[in-house]
Parts: sequence; structure tokens; C-alpha cells
Amino acid sequence: MTKRLQVYETDEISVSFDPNVCIHSAVCIRGLPAVFDVKRKHWIRPELATAEEVAEQIKRCPSGALQYKMKRDA
Ligand code: SF4
Repeated sequence: MTKRLQVYETDEISVSFDPNVCIHSAVCIRGLPAVFDVKRKHWIRPELATAEEVAEQIKRCPSGALQYKMKRDA
């Protein structure tokens, strides 16, 4: 069964997570543990770092499950 895309937003950045693509490398959790914490129901909280920090971490996701869009670029 296909899992739903998850979207988490602040005023500055929109983060999406596709659970069907994630390979559970935990790169995100190790890199920015305050923002990415699988123990929480809302496991991604981009408001707990700067938008730039969140974006840099998302670029390191090896599977592409995490994607972001800077709202101020829109
Ligand atoms: S870095 Fe990407 S592939 Fe690894 S656990 Fe996080 S979302 Fe999944």
C-alpha cells in the first residue's frame, strides 16, 4: 500500500517526506536530531532550526525521500 506524502511547513520552508522512498539511512536523524525525531508523531519539525540548516540537511538525504522548497524563493 502506498503511504501518504507528509508535508511540514514554517513561514520560510516547506518540507516534504515520502515514506515510500525513504531507505532508513538515518542521515537526517543523525545530522539534525532536533528537527528529525522519529519518536514524535509529527517527526519533522523544521521550526527547530533555521531554514538553511534544514535545507542543507535535506540535500544529504540519500534516497530523495526528503524534499524542500524555500518559500521566499517562490
Ligand atoms: S536521510 Fe532520507 S533516506 Fe535517510 S532516513 Fe532520512 S529521509 Fe530516510
